[in-house]
Amino acid sequence: MKILVINSGSSSIKYQLFDMTAALVLASGLIERIGEPQALHRHIDRQGGVEETERKHAIATHRDGLLEIGKVLRESGTIHDLSELSAIGHRVVHGGEYFREPTLIDNEVVGRIREMIPLAPLHNPANLMGIEVALQAAPDIPQVAVFDTAFHQSIPQHAWRYALPEKLYSEQHVRRYGFHGTSHHYVAKQAAQQLGKPLSSLNLITLHLGNGASAAAISQGRSVDTSMGMTPLEGLIMGTRCGDIDPAIHFYLGREAGLSNEEVETLLNKESGLKGICGSNDMREVHRLADAGDERARLALEMYCYRIRKYIGAYYAVLGHLDAVVFTGGIGENDARTRAQSCAGMTALGIDIDSEKNSHRGEGAFAINSDASAVSILVIPTDEELEIALQTVACIEEES
Ligand code: AMP
Repeated sequence: MKILVINSGSSSIKYQLFDMTAALVLASGLIERIGEPQALHRHIDRQGGVEETERKHAIATHRDGLLEIGKVLRESGTIHDLSELSAIGHRVVHGGEYFREPTLIDNEVVGRIREMIPLAPLHNPANLMGIEVALQAAPDIPQVAVFDTAFHQSIPQHAWRYALPEKLYSEQHVRRYGFHGTSHHYVAKQAAQQLGKPLSSLNLITLHLGNGASAAAISQGRSVDTSMGMTPLEGLIMGTRCGDIDPAIHFYLGREAGLSNEEVETLLNKESGLKGICGSNDMREVHRLADAGDERARLALEMYCYRIRKYIGAYYAVLGHLDAVVFTGGIGENDARTRAQSCAGMTALGIDIDSEKNSHRGEGAFAINSDASAVSILVIPTDEELEIALQTVACIEEES
């Protein structure tokens, strides 16, 4: 059973082709700079070894990009014809309140995803472009939309409502939606496997720490709170996003610094977070600067980990009982110092890292808690593409 997963961005298309029967990735790739004079297409063929090829030429539109992906897959012999695909799974960032689970795409679904554009003006149009081109290229193959927001639709109202006038919710759809749901769900399932217990019996705090970052409180397999809000700006400190701040800062900047709404939006999304504090949004560079004595980089690390600690404490209280804290994402998976500092001082809460286990580097999931720690602390590599493929299979099997 072959499943193609497509993650279509504003000027890029990421893809992975899975053989779900053999549990293998057959090929993967990324096209960047669509619409620019020279696009870059990196393709990795994984049939019997890893063979990487790079093509640089103009790719004017997403349609051209997807046609090229089909051509490369055929030329490398990975598939002979698109009709060999059992389904195509598409990442869609915002499903609003309407989409609570992966959904087989038809014209009505396309229309609903289009209706969500005001909630995700940068992402949903790009996701839709991928869907529309794929529907044209392969009209007979089932296509499934997998939403970043869907996993968090189980959050109770007292956690997703903002303390704002009711009509902002009922008329303008202002509420917490949460993001990174595919990743939080995937690592929660992996954590259950790692702990040898059913997910429905576990309470978890999952920390997706990448360039974007979010925390989720997961009770018996269901998300009950998450740190990102109506947009991905709220919550943890991120590479370039500020996370939680006093909303009145926005008005102050307008009044006192003369900044427009658009300027404040750019400032908070693209020039804040680690980058705003110390000049770099790359955690490896932040460590390098801090190790060289840069005080701003040290402060950035302290602030970053302090914010995570606050969320762990808050979500521990939300859950009442905690079985495991899970670290994932580029920083969560690779940065032992961030993990240690984020869990520091929590021994009395039963959260205790073993520094030797924490310094382990290797493939796959591993535990980093001490033997005395009541709470398991796990490092689990996320795999959003695989989760989209798994959910795509579940969706088409349910429909048939
Ligand atoms: P992601 O968005 O999940 O790809 O994560 C990107 C972030 O992970 C960047 O801030 C990287 O600096 C960070 N990262 C990747 N590898 C490491 C590492 N070995 N140590 C610390 N941070 C890392």
